[in-house]
Amino acid sequence: MIARADAVVIGGGIMGVSVAHFLTKLGYGDVVLVEKRRLAGGSTQYSAAHVRQHYTNEVAIRLAVRAAAMFGNAEEDLGGEVGFVRDGYMVLATAEEAQAIRDVVPLQQRLGVETALVDPDEVVERWPELSLDGVELACYEETSGYADPVRTVEALAGSAARLGLEVREGCEVLGISVSSGRVTGVVTGDGEIATGVVVNATGPWGNTIGRMVGIEYPLTWSREHEAIFEAPEGFRGLPVMSDSTQRLYFRSVGGDKVLVGEGWPKAVEPADPERYDDGTDAEHLDRMVPRLVRRVPALAANLSQPGYGGAFVTGYSGVYDITEDWYPIVGAEAVEGYYSAFGGSGHCFKLGPTIGESLAHLIAGSEPPVEIAGLSGSRFAAGRSFTSVWGPGNRA
Ligand SMILES: Cc1cc2nc3c(=O)[nH]c(=O)nc-3n(C[C@H](O)[C@H](O)[C@H](O)COP(=O)(O)OP(=O)(O)OC[C@H]3O[C@@H](n4cnc5c(N)ncnc54)[C@H](O)[C@@H]3O)c2cc1C
Repeated sequence: MIARADAVVIGGGIMGVSVAHFLTKLGYGDVVLVEKRRLAGGSTQYSAAHVRQHYTNEVAIRLAVRAAAMFGNAEEDLGGEVGFVRDGYMVLATAEEAQAIRDVVPLQQRLGVETALVDPDEVVERWPELSLDGVELACYEETSGYADPVRTVEALAGSAARLGLEVREGCEVLGISVSSGRVTGVVTGDGEIATGVVVNATGPWGNTIGRMVGIEYPLTWSREHEAIFEAPEGFRGLPVMSDSTQRLYFRSVGGDKVLVGEGWPKAVEPADPERYDDGTDAEHLDRMVPRLVRRVPALAANLSQPGYGGAFVTGYSGVYDITEDWYPIVGAEAVEGYYSAFGGSGHCFKLGPTIGESLAHLIAGSEPPVEIAGLSGSRFAAGRSFTSVWGPGNRA
């Protein structure tokens, strides 16, 4: 293994491969990506991978707008084909929550999101599969959609590897060497790499790595479920839907399937990222399916039957790494040369590439395309935590 590097990125999920990709593209020198399992072997593999732009604060909106453009131009911007489907994204709100989208959509429009408020009647006219009882108002983004999380990681890492990035899978970081307040190296199961720059992009393991340099940020872990069902013959498909009224999200998968997951706020389901059960269970399916059928009655023919009418394809669960304000922790820390890039809180599949790009610029000493200073972990102590029009959770 390489004994000396200009930068070592720890973690081969979307955050780590994004930082490594853009550092390599910037010609930062010898960059090594160290992953203890395999690429996309953590939370990223389970991601619904929705690429939406509906956010409350300026930094997240700017990152999301740029990300949606990158996903739409993936061959050039992300290094290859990533399975991006531009099906659009819609939020459904109750009468009590409608003001949240009335407040935030004008800000999103000002910052470049192609979004608009839509009447429930107009929604049903365009997507007659939906039933919008209890919905007061919606907003819809035409240029959003979803991607394939594993292919996205492979495209970012593979294209950077062709430019010289060294990717080490099955290689665990065991320690970080620090001398006189500066990073000097990374100790791995395969030996030590001398380096002056280390990026902690280990998602749910972020504070384990942080402790290696004496930095602690509280993280909460929650087990999050998704399931995929066959759609009936003739089903015309749906955009990515955030059904805030029922705390549910769902979307088409290709032309013939539907994915469903539970939205926030809801109870945290504590999970140890190292040894939780990544399957699904009847309890979660029984909670999600009736809500899905209520909103998409066209699915009832199968899903309301015993055993979901044989339409169940697969179910799985991943872990959210949740920070105190539901936004990631990104940027330089008190130990010189050590950078944080974790705490995705359910947002960071889509934000990963643009966070990675801006962080790579900061490390390289050039101007980041999106200013990410607000994501610094120092915000908690400084009283600059983020808030959302939707309240706590990852809705925006
Ligand atoms: C069910 C689910 C649905 C989601 N849906 C969406 C969505 O629709 N849109 C969206 O934007 N976001 C979504 N998210 C959130 C998004 O997927 C995550 O924020 C993102 O994937 C986190 O990526 P990461 O790179 O930070 O972490 P991970 O993908 O977990 O990567 C961290 C990596 O670090 C490695 N690692 C840990 N410790 C070490 C060590 N000591 N040495 C070496 N390697 C180490 C791990 O093996 C792992 O591969 C969802 C998440 C889940 C769980």
